[in-house]
Amino acid sequence: MKKHNFSAGPCILPQEVMQKAASAVIELDDIGLSLIEISHRSKEFVDIMEQARSLALELLGLKDKGYQALFLHGGASMEFLMVAYNFLEKKAGYLNTGTWSDKAIKEARLFGEVVEVASSKDKNYNFIPKDYKIPGDLDYLHITSNNTIYGTQFKEIPKTDLPLICDMSSDIFSRQLDFSQFDLIYAGAQKNMGPAGVTLVVVKEDALGKVSRKIPSMMDYKVHIDKDSMFNTPPVFPVYTSMLTLQWLKDLGGIAAIKEVNEKKAQLLYSEIDLNPLFKGFAAKEDRSNMNATFTLADEKLKDTFDAMWKEAGINGLNGHRSVGGYRASMYNALSLESVGVLVDIMSDLERKA
Ligand SMILES: *Cc1c(COP(=O)(O)O)cnc(C)c1O
Repeated sequence: MKKHNFSAGPCILPQEVMQKAASAVIELDDIGLSLIEISHRSKEFVDIMEQARSLALELLGLKDKGYQALFLHGGASMEFLMVAYNFLEKKAGYLNTGTWSDKAIKEARLFGEVVEVASSKDKNYNFIPKDYKIPGDLDYLHITSNNTIYGTQFKEIPKTDLPLICDMSSDIFSRQLDFSQFDLIYAGAQKNMGPAGVTLVVVKEDALGKVSRKIPSMMDYKVHIDKDSMFNTPPVFPVYTSMLTLQWLKDLGGIAAIKEVNEKKAQLLYSEIDLNPLFKGFAAKEDRSNMNATFTLADEKLKDTFDAMWKEAGINGLNGHRSVGGYRASMYNALSLESVGVLVDIMSDLERKA
């Protein structure tokens, strides 16, 4: 039996996507060759790349709006420096809402001045800062829409006239936003879209070309756009699998449809966390993430019992990140409402037993 996968990464995908991807590794669409052995310049793969790029823009509502979608190597971590390479001329602003923001800031500092516009670091990142003033003289403002480790999520995207750049690795395609408020969005595939090894970058074309430094080709978004996201050999398997997931999402009714399911899942789990006296939520209530729910046991003595119970029920990946402790239930798009139901039943069973 397939386990209920609450793991934070990499990666949970729809079963039908997994099956189709697996079979394409043996043979792609009856062409007598594997997906991973055909040329990336073949018509078959060029079509796959085009479809992946087009589906990404379509699902985000950014088609024909001056945006380009790229599938690049290096993970979201590579974007920490590519963003600065391409956008930081003098001074950039970052909201520091977690480990990933912190890492993005560290990389950006190699390229210019970085202002931490606001930070929740002194409270172990358990909330999203709200009252702060954004300086007007920044090249861009960078935010992390969902903080995977701490389980917080921006419910309101900051309003600014500055170019807005967002690390959306762990909540892209999970909820509706006006995506045209961003000049650049990036997301490692492995949380909500595909296997590790590819990163989606969605960039507004006319936001580029504003820095004076020379940019190495591999780091230059313009080069990747000019080469249709095939400047060098793309990671063909992660791109293909991401394309299948995006197609799956489109067939389901797009972001509007999955958002409903994601809200139901989050509501189900958070109401159990709030009503069950044995559990405590980690993140501030108003900032709770619909993707990663962080919580702890009120009484650590119950740990062994609870751990045995959820493992017995076929749940995987519930342990919290070491910097938070306790538990983290990641509820990405491909995790079903039924799986969350299984977890919630275990939590209330524990209350009955204790
Ligand atoms: C997982 C994650 C990353 C790191 O992604 P890599 O692809 O491993 O570099 C960055 N930001 C956020 C928000 C993440 O969840």
